Amino acid sequence: MTNRQLFLTHIAQTSDSPMALEIVKAEGCKMWDADGKEYIDLIGGISVCNVGHRHPKVIEAIKQQLDKYLHVMVNGELILSPQTEYAKLLTDNLPASLNSVFFTASGTEATEGAMKLAKRFTGRTQIVAFKNSYHGSTQGSLSVMGDEYWRNAFRPLLSDVLHLNFNSFDDLELITGQTACVIAETIQAEAGVIMPENNWLKALQKKCMETEALLVLDEIQCGFGRNGTLWAFEQFDVVPDILLLGKALGGGMPLGAFISDKKLMDCLSNNPVLGHINTFGGHPVCCASGLAAMKVLLDERLIESVKEKQELFISLLTHPQIKKVRSCGLMIAVEFENAEENKNIINKLIQAGIFTDWFLFVPQCLRIVPPLTISEEEIKLVCKTIINLL
Ligand code: PMP
Repeated sequence: MTNRQLFLTHIAQTSDSPMALEIVKAEGCKMWDADGKEYIDLIGGISVCNVGHRHPKVIEAIKQQLDKYLHVMVNGELILSPQTEYAKLLTDNLPASLNSVFFTASGTEATEGAMKLAKRFTGRTQIVAFKNSYHGSTQGSLSVMGDEYWRNAFRPLLSDVLHLNFNSFDDLELITGQTACVIAETIQAEAGVIMPENNWLKALQKKCMETEALLVLDEIQCGFGRNGTLWAFEQFDVVPDILLLGKALGGGMPLGAFISDKKLMDCLSNNPVLGHINTFGGHPVCCASGLAAMKVLLDERLIESVKEKQELFISLLTHPQIKKVRSCGLMIAVEFENAEENKNIINKLIQAGIFTDWFLFVPQCLRIVPPLTISEEEIKLVCKTIINLL
């Protein structure tokens, strides 16, 4: 059997039309398929490869860790320096109240852990989430996902969940003393880059404080420099009680985290003990990789050019067929008339050597979330190709 046949026969399929490109190499902002064809990667593993594919410093850190140890014991029992050093770098770069890191193996597990922490800490059961939000695909995360189409086949889900409208000041009144936590993406990604407007996030934080509900901000997709600041919440003058990270956190290796004040986090160690546990969360190789990637992000000042690159994309993406471009930093949604038109353009782009896809809740929007290292020339080439295809 060819690799393509093996893929279609033995790899679980979740898409009715998988891209099925065989990738044999990826480096920086580029990928190559089995026929030697080169692609500019416009999605970086969906906001994972913020420092580019296989950054030499990340590869070096992984190799060094490989020579020491891989997995040694379930998470949380042993002192592992890749974890402690990464937790130090993260917390050094976060507000003082976000000082305790629970490493997970994925983004959705970070969501699950945060919801458990909020319920355990507050003794309350209700979780408030927002329409058009995405927080992961396991059943707790699915319960707070803001789109019924994706949830419905998997009911029963968590029962005490309330979905409000993102950016609605009126809806904030529905947050009460029953609410354990409010979970929101700082910038809604799969909804096609929806920003909080008019200080709404600040009003949300105020309401959480008044009701003593915990504010959980999901920066799994929008954090780690993607939006032009290290953390997106910095742009809205709020600080969450719990921050969710994933994707780029591992520098290309699987890693997630929920981060809070130690006063909160410590309640997972009693009544019951081991309030949240996992085998692979904070895997030493993933933490070594993530730590190196974060150092690259900071040392190479990759965030400084994000806004400039965003502006270049926006200035070049004008065409009567483009209905709208919504963006925050290098998270860009290019909206076409309908999903069919967008999918057609995506297929043509892939043929032309530009790798991209669409957003989950807005299939009419083309996704641009490239490595932050994408060059000016690459941006110009990408935009020229998109416009020429229309
Ligand atoms: N939250 C957001 C905002 C995401 O974009 C994602 C992944 N697309 C997740 C949570 C879930 O992360 P994972 O796929 O690692 O479980």
